[in-house]
Amino acid sequence: MTATTAPTPPAPAGPATAAGAGATVEFRGLHRRFGATVALEGLDLTARPGELLALLGPSGCGKTTALRMLAGFEHPDAGEVLVDGKDITGVAAHRRGTGMVFQSYSLFPHLTAAENVAFGLRMRGTGKTQRQRRAAELLDLVGLAHLAGRFPHQMSGGQQQRVALARALALQPRVLLLDEPLSALDAKVRLALREEIRRLQQDLGITTLFVTHDQEEALSMADRVAVLRAGRLEQVAAPAQLYARPATAFVAEFVGTMSRIPAARSGTDRVQVLGVRLPVDGDLPADGELDVLVRPEALRMSADPRGTATVMGASFLGATTRLTVRLADGTEVKADLPTDTAAGLPVGSPATVALPDRPVLVDRRRTP
Ligand code: ATP
Repeated sequence: MTATTAPTPPAPAGPATAAGAGATVEFRGLHRRFGATVALEGLDLTARPGELLALLGPSGCGKTTALRMLAGFEHPDAGEVLVDGKDITGVAAHRRGTGMVFQSYSLFPHLTAAENVAFGLRMRGTGKTQRQRRAAELLDLVGLAHLAGRFPHQMSGGQQQRVALARALALQPRVLLLDEPLSALDAKVRLALREEIRRLQQDLGITTLFVTHDQEEALSMADRVAVLRAGRLEQVAAPAQLYARPATAFVAEFVGTMSRIPAARSGTDRVQVLGVRLPVDGDLPADGELDVLVRPEALRMSADPRGTATVMGASFLGATTRLTVRLADGTEVKADLPTDTAAGLPVGSPATVALPDRPVLVDRRRTP
């Protein structure tokens, strides 16, 4: 139930944690099985001091297990967890200096917001006056000074999650762990809290690991995003790089939208696709049939009475509209166009689809 664990040194009064005080966190060769289920299978990953590192991946890929290992709630079968180069694998959870916020608000229902925030300090024997001052400072930090006396049931989900964040920061953790902290909130509150958490995290300079299965959340908040797959690291990179230069087809399709278009091998480093011959970005699979992976914004589309593609559907996204387009061979692809342009391509209309003359990402065709 407790969302925070105590670091060893006593908390001095003052800011939640000093800017630039972020720790380096390293997972080295982490393995963990639960019966026949493999949760982690050799996870290697480093969080840099002060960065917000998002752990992103499909359900069951081991994100939460990795986070719990850092918190000390879970232990690896093999491998180690290091903070600032020191192996903490055998250190008890309450001595690790991590603060955690969970998906469910997990506040103590019988304590006020201020008492919830001060709880860990009380456990650690901090005097009443200092506790109260510190709780007030932290509630102020998360914009809730005016709700200090409220009980959890008297607060909205977003407010409760802010209190949980203040509580996690109260003990000046060296590392902040956020496990899907926004997923129980409605869309608007979620967006507001994203920005708040990010601003706070940057102001405090606290190394933060953020578990989410929401790629938009990961891309919009993180300094770097680690994509996990079946208990291993698939790729870690800054959001823009992950999106533009995915290392694998798995990352390409997990992060953002991708369409697959059948392609033919052409020489050792090119493919023939949509009537053009294009260089391959990365490796060309040695054998098998091929698909090119294309982002919706990369496709060029134009209305064309003699075009062999057909617009099948349109979904309005604001400034852009995403069209679903059927190619001559029956393949369906997604194309994002400025909404004004998309207006000239109503559902049912014929069109021409083309690719820009740039290297393309290629993957083995999947058997349906
Ligand atoms: P999600 O996004 O669904 O929360 P996740 O990536 O966080 O998934 P984990 O919670 O780390 O995944 O779980 C990884 C795998 O280990 C899953 O198959 C899960 O069912 C299993 N697992 C995790 N904890 C336990 C446990 N205590 N007992 C048995 N199996 C577990």
